[in-house]
Amino acid sequence: MTNLSCRACGKTNLKSLIDVGMTPLSNAMVPFARADEGEVSYPLHAFTCQDCFLVQLGEFQTPQAIFAEDYVYFSSFSTSWLEHAKRYAVDQTARFDLGPDAHISEVASNDGYLLRWFADAGQKVTGIEPADGCAEAARKVGVHTEQQFFGRKTARAVAASRGKADLMAANNVLAHVPDLDDFTGGFAEMLKPEGVVTFEFPHLLNMMRYNQFDTIYHEHFSYLALRPVMEVLAKNGLRVFDVQEWPTHGGSLRVFACHEGASHDEHSGVAEVLAAEEEYSLYDITTYETFGERVRGIKDGLLSFLIEARRKGETVAAYGAAAKGSTLLNYCGVGTEYVSYVVDRNPNKQNRFMPGIRIPTYGVEHMQADNPDHILILPWNLRDEIMAQLRHEGLTGDFVTAIPELTIVK
Ligand SMILES: [Zn+2]
Repeated sequence: MTNLSCRACGKTNLKSLIDVGMTPLSNAMVPFARADEGEVSYPLHAFTCQDCFLVQLGEFQTPQAIFAEDYVYFSSFSTSWLEHAKRYAVDQTARFDLGPDAHISEVASNDGYLLRWFADAGQKVTGIEPADGCAEAARKVGVHTEQQFFGRKTARAVAASRGKADLMAANNVLAHVPDLDDFTGGFAEMLKPEGVVTFEFPHLLNMMRYNQFDTIYHEHFSYLALRPVMEVLAKNGLRVFDVQEWPTHGGSLRVFACHEGASHDEHSGVAEVLAAEEEYSLYDITTYETFGERVRGIKDGLLSFLIEARRKGETVAAYGAAAKGSTLLNYCGVGTEYVSYVVDRNPNKQNRFMPGIRIPTYGVEHMQADNPDHILILPWNLRDEIMAQLRHEGLTGDFVTAIPELTIVK
């Protein structure tokens, strides 16, 4: 049914994993003032490559439109993510003995949430970030930012103007890259001979194991496991020497790579993660065949709960206008008849509609005043942090999450 070619290996042996249907871009929230305007929808259909097992979306759209000026995700609005970034800076500075002369660069540096910690320590930092609003916010916290998409060409230019890097970070960006080969090739251009690059990405193993289908949205072109990442890095002369598992985003990998000839020893994490992937049969296509059915079960569970709540006259509102919430609600066809509104702490996500299903979004004070019977937490990966905060703020309703299965916490 497809003549698509794989974003990693180039072969055309792709098999449908899940077809979410036609949905608008998940971050394309609609301001109230534009309520009478239409929205553009794109097919959201994920495939598994039967050769290299990269899970990926079919071609549909250019990244320029995805990272347009309305892009409203700022990393620094999540407290736990800021803490994770700070810890990264402390850990890598110690592990790789990064002194005051070190040059640290981050690709997709967002609002400077990570590099600011290195800049505060007096180290030279170079952020590379295409989105206007993010680049501007980063400069305000003292992070030198080149406003570019990353690839070999940008890497050569930045290496020439700013110098090569001792440490490069690419957190939660690999999945957003349409051309994995050109992107990873950029790190080979920009790293010093003994330099280290770290990539962080949600692990496909967890998406499969815990039914995290709502991490599938148009901004995520690929869903990554260790083996295909090692293959695309190796094609570009980069060698993976360590892997760590982190709980962020529902279970992520942090992969450490260097030039093939660099002296970094291989750590046991590489073999351990590859073994876990093998054990789950991640490189066997039959593993992917039941995913669609399990996802339909999630839709059944959420809809049953919402229908019952409505019959009983109970109120339901949602927390966190995250991209994954957009996939979940659009896939399940849930509008304001079931979920009255969504609240978010990020002012850029307030007084808008969630794309597609058009549920209005407000600040958290709206929920505090209303105190609904049930609170559907859309960013389930931050559930514990959100529950504690909302309880502390006096909300008394149940907390509901839909993934990996419907769960209600009283
Ligand atoms: Zn492939």
